[in-house]
Amino acid sequence: MSTEPAVSPEALERFDRPRNYGPLDQWDGHARVTGPCGDTMEFWLRIADRRIAQVSFITDGCGPSRAAGSMATELAAGRLVKEALRIEQADVLQALGGLPADSEHCSLLAVNTLKAAIRDCQQRRQTTQPCGECPQAECSSKQRQPNESEEEFRDRQVLTQRMCQIGMKLLVMSGKGGVGKSTVAANLASSLALAGKAVGLLDVDIHGPSIPKLMGLETERLIAHDGGIAPIEIGGNLKVVSIGFLLASAADAVIWRGPMKYNVIRQFLKDVDWGPLDYLVIDAPPGTGDEPLSVAQLIGQPAGAILVTTPQDLAIADVRRSVSFCEKVSLPVVGVIENMSGLVCPHCGGQIELFKKGGGELLAREMDVPFLGSVPIDPQIVQCGDSGTPYAHRFGASPAATAFSAIVEQIVAHSPPEPS
Ligand code: ADP
Repeated sequence: MSTEPAVSPEALERFDRPRNYGPLDQWDGHARVTGPCGDTMEFWLRIADRRIAQVSFITDGCGPSRAAGSMATELAAGRLVKEALRIEQADVLQALGGLPADSEHCSLLAVNTLKAAIRDCQQRRQTTQPCGECPQAECSSKQRQPNESEEEFRDRQVLTQRMCQIGMKLLVMSGKGGVGKSTVAANLASSLALAGKAVGLLDVDIHGPSIPKLMGLETERLIAHDGGIAPIEIGGNLKVVSIGFLLASAADAVIWRGPMKYNVIRQFLKDVDWGPLDYLVIDAPPGTGDEPLSVAQLIGQPAGAILVTTPQDLAIADVRRSVSFCEKVSLPVVGVIENMSGLVCPHCGGQIELFKKGGGELLAREMDVPFLGSVPIDPQIVQCGDSGTPYAHRFGASPAATAFSAIVEQIVAHSPPEPS
């Protein structure tokens, strides 16, 4: 029998008396993150001379959450910001002398919330700046263009300021409908949020918005305030906006021509008050029509496309068109995802190759674009979509959820480095 205590004295001490507990009156960065277990953690911090001058937290979780949050603040306090961004779950666990295996996830939640608060601070500093004061000399939003009225110029600057608050814009595209593009967009956004990122999910599928249904937000409507249109918030770090929130009922059809589509997408990008985000995931309708074109023209850099396909030849041929669309509009391809790639047997968990497999990977190689991974068919994905629960939240250990989180790791690795 092991004589090792289940909980170390360092951890136990912080179960009841966590350090740095409670909000800060004055802060530069704040984040609230809900972990897969349902516990929520909140961090506040002040940064001075590139160091974490003060940091605090609260949580609605139990002892291990308090210990993990406390240790994350203790490890971060006084450090250079770029060093604090390198604190990992293992560092918190080591400093605590370990946590019971079923509570180790609390240390990940603590580290993710700490980093989200640091990024919040960095983004606020970078982007509350008006275009005129921004150091990026070559940005086209600094100067009024010859054919532009004063009003159009101001309008363009507002759009630029909104987009500048977003670390990376990801346009999710597919050659045709039914390949799981919206499902992938919803699950990428949820998986990025679970990884502690501040995420926006924008549904510009004007003719068939499915994000409200997939996220369980069908009854939500958008409300405007002084700062713009308020997105619907889920779990503290995921914000959602869909054209579906403007329709009286899910059965309503929208008949808009090209310029109207451009204008509504522009309005969404300009007027939605996303605040600082690490990622904005944009679900565009299938094909290479007005909506993806409008988005690609308006979002600015850094941005990239994620191309979703199924393994069959017909779907793959469509992806070629998407790759050439991206080349034409100078949108880098972040990578290809092969969805519905094999079937996970609900009885034994083994993989059945229902369609052929690997077409997406071959195509990615042929077109010289990255391949991000394959997501198998999983009947639970359909059930989750129908009941409005993001799949990645509920089935964290399943093959499809594991595939999503491996894809998210690659997307995060591809994204621009954090500012120091
Ligand atoms: P698209 O946006 O490409 O039209 P959707 O995301 O709406 O496609 O997905 C179409 C249908 O396929 C939905 O019912 C969805 O639940 C289902 N689906 C998508 N991906 C998977 C998957 N990997 N396994 C099982 N069903 C899936």
